[in-house]
Formats: sequence, structure tokens, C-alpha cells
Amino acid sequence: MSRTVFDPEAGDEQLFEQARRVMPGGVNSPVRAMGQIGRNPVFIESARGCHLTARDGSEYIDWVCSWGPMILGHADPQVLDAVNRAASRGLGFGAATASEVELAEEVVDRMPSVEMIRMTSSGTEAAMGAVRLARAITGRETLVKFSGAYHGHSDSLLVEAGSGVATLGIPGSPGVPEQVAAGTVVVPWNDREAVEAAVAGHKVAALLVEPVPANMGVVLPREGFLAFLRELCDRHGTLLLFDEVITGFRLARGGAQDLYGVNPDLTVMGKILGGGLPAAAIGGPRRYLEHFAPSGDVYQAGTLSGNPVAVAAGLATLRQLDDDAYLRLGDLTDRLVNGLRTIASEHQLQVASVPGLATLFFRRDPVRDFADSLDTDAEAHARFCRGMLDRGVYLPPSRFEAWFVSLAHDERSIDLTLEAVAGTLAAITGVDQGHSR
Ligand SMILES: *Cc1c(COP(=O)(O)O)cnc(C)c1O
Repeated sequence: MSRTVFDPEAGDEQLFEQARRVMPGGVNSPVRAMGQIGRNPVFIESARGCHLTARDGSEYIDWVCSWGPMILGHADPQVLDAVNRAASRGLGFGAATASEVELAEEVVDRMPSVEMIRMTSSGTEAAMGAVRLARAITGRETLVKFSGAYHGHSDSLLVEAGSGVATLGIPGSPGVPEQVAAGTVVVPWNDREAVEAAVAGHKVAALLVEPVPANMGVVLPREGFLAFLRELCDRHGTLLLFDEVITGFRLARGGAQDLYGVNPDLTVMGKILGGGLPAAAIGGPRRYLEHFAPSGDVYQAGTLSGNPVAVAAGLATLRQLDDDAYLRLGDLTDRLVNGLRTIASEHQLQVASVPGLATLFFRRDPVRDFADSLDTDAEAHARFCRGMLDRGVYLPPSRFEAWFVSLAHDERSIDLTLEAVAGTLAAITGVDQGHSR
């Protein structure tokens, strides 16, 4: 085998070629490769506030924000300071620390249904742990999830998942045993009859819900849908599990459960929780969480769980997310979304949003579920994303991912983005009038 020497001076094209030789698809997470929008990845060098600087020197207004964690913007001074201070005391001990207790108390104070948390390093792990806990508590095995919802990449939860799974157009994944996939029943989002039939028809351990799905684009729950799920689970002895990895600490101080006033039995959180470093958690009432070892017998562990540097980043992030911060995040989202709606209506496109998240759907009619989201125009979306990059705006390179609003997006960056949206849509619809079905 020929060995190449890493060349720091190589151009991006050559670097991507090298990358593909040593990493599958040249990346460590599929959507980053940007294949679905028909181009090579942008290699990022640094970021500050809402701006990314690419390796080739280009600057972008960033609407990905590391897929959510950077709600304060990149390189926030207080977060960096906390991280530096924590790092200078040692990067990790694999032992109990005081800062974990502080973070747990902060989360418990915010999330209405959470009395205790168990930390993990990723949302995937947290969802996996929550599923094991739910199965242990209920003595049942079947799971119900919604198509287009993403709960990380563990075997039983990849079935009809959104996010990168949908982006790559694969229904599940090779390597997932059939009997594992068969233990997960999938129903359409916002469909009361289907979810009722699934929960009533099986012995269901947990109903997994992204309370506001953001991995098939943002698709709001219909009026009363979350309360209906709560009541349905109560009726059938099924645990209601909210995956708040995106919505937690974003939609409101205590996440979607706070905004909608519906309490789940178990909550999975991540992204903002680690402030940009790897941290996630399973949360819930004491009577459930105490089933985890060592207080109970449900095994769950992690070498890096509660890592002090990640905990410092998470705490420094959450501490800045007070009521004023959420008001401002709401105002910034409104400014973006109102502008998007005006432009979108001229092009017969749809916009969906909640505070801190937005999606521009390339479709004439509103998107209510995953089938609608799949019915959006992939080609027009790809051209739109490429055009936006050319105009200095970095959007999620997938039609199934949301735009993430941060507190570093000021009025100017929003207005520049809207100008770019108007210009790009005008350019692509000029040659593609029939794009929105
Ligand atoms: C990102 C995400 C996950 C997975 O988290 P990772 O840290 O990427 O493993 C799970 N659920 C939802 C809703 C997510 O958006």
C-alpha cells in the first residue's frame, strides 16, 4: 500500500482526495461530505460568533452551529475561559467531580420532568441507555418511534430515521439485525390513529418522540398531539421518552417539555448540554433513574462520561441562557423567519419554525410528516445550498436538517442571509420554474 504524507499546503481538492483515502467518504459523519448538494466538503479552519472561516480563506455566516451546541455562537469568551480553566486542572480523571453535580443541578432546575440525570458522551449513547432503562422498568421490549425522527445511530433506532440516514436515502442500515429492527414499530408523525394502534397493539416499553422533530426539517406537532401522546402512554403503561437532544435548552429554558407543558417519563439530551464538547444525558424522575447502576441493576457506564472539560463548557453555556437570552433568540428567529416567509411566498415554498430553529422546505404545501418532507425538491434544494455557499452563507447541506439560530446571529447577519436567499432563489427559479410540487 502506498503511503501518502499529509501535506498541510495541499489545496482543498487534494486534501479531500487524501481524506477519502484514509476515512470513508473523507469524513467522520456522513452529511459533512456535502455529496447530497453535489459538491465537496468545506474544510473549516476556525469560527467566531456566527462566522465560519474556511481553510481556503472564505468566510460564511453559519446556520449549522455545529448542529446545535453553539447556541451562544462560536468561541464564546466565557465558554472558552471555563474550558481553559478546567483543562488546566487536567483533562479528565474518570472519577467523581464537583462540577458534574453543579451541571446536574442546573439541568434538574430547568427541565420540569427531570429529578436526576446520568451523563454520557453522545446523544446516541443517551438514547441507547434510555431505551435499556425503559425496557428494564416496564419488562417490555417493543419500541415505537416516528418515521423521520432521529435518535442517534444505535441499531434499534435507525429504522426509518431522519437526519443523515434520510439524507443518504437509505431506509435503515445494513448491519442492523432483522430481529432488532423488527422490535421497533414506526409510525407517521402527527398521525393519532397510527400511533394509537401501535401503542395499543403491542407491549410497548417506550414511545420515542422528538417533541418538535428537527431531523426531517422542522415539523411542528399538531395542536394537542404531545398531550395526546402523554395520555396514550399513561393508558397503556408505556413510557413516554422525549428526545430533546436538539430542543432541550433551545426552545425554552427547559426545552420542549417546558414550552408545551407536557412532561415525558424519560428525557434524552445532548448538543447544547456539552456547549460544543461531547456531553449528553438521560434524565427523569428519581424512581426511574435510580434503576441505573450503582443504585440499581441496569448497567450503563462511560470512560469519558461527565468529562470535566465538557461539563465546564456545558455549564458556562447554560449559565448564559437566561430568560433574556430566550427572548432574544425568539426575536432573532422571528426576524429570520418573517424574512424567509416573505421570500418563500413569492416562490411558493414553505417555512416552518420554532424559537431557535427554522426550515425552508422546497415544497408548495406545508410539511406535516416525513412523507411530505421526502416529497420536497432535492435538486432545487441542492442548487439553493450551493448558491448560498457562493454568497457566503453556510446552510445545513441536507434538506432534512434544520437551520440553527444562535445568540450570535445579529440583525445584520440575518439581513445579509435574507438578501442571499432572495438572490439565490431568483437565480435558480429563473431556470427551474416547475421546481416546487
Ligand atoms: C443529534 C441527535 C442525536 C444524536 O446525538 P449524537 O451526539 O450525534 O450521538 C439524537 N437525537 C436527536 C434528536 C439528535 O438531533
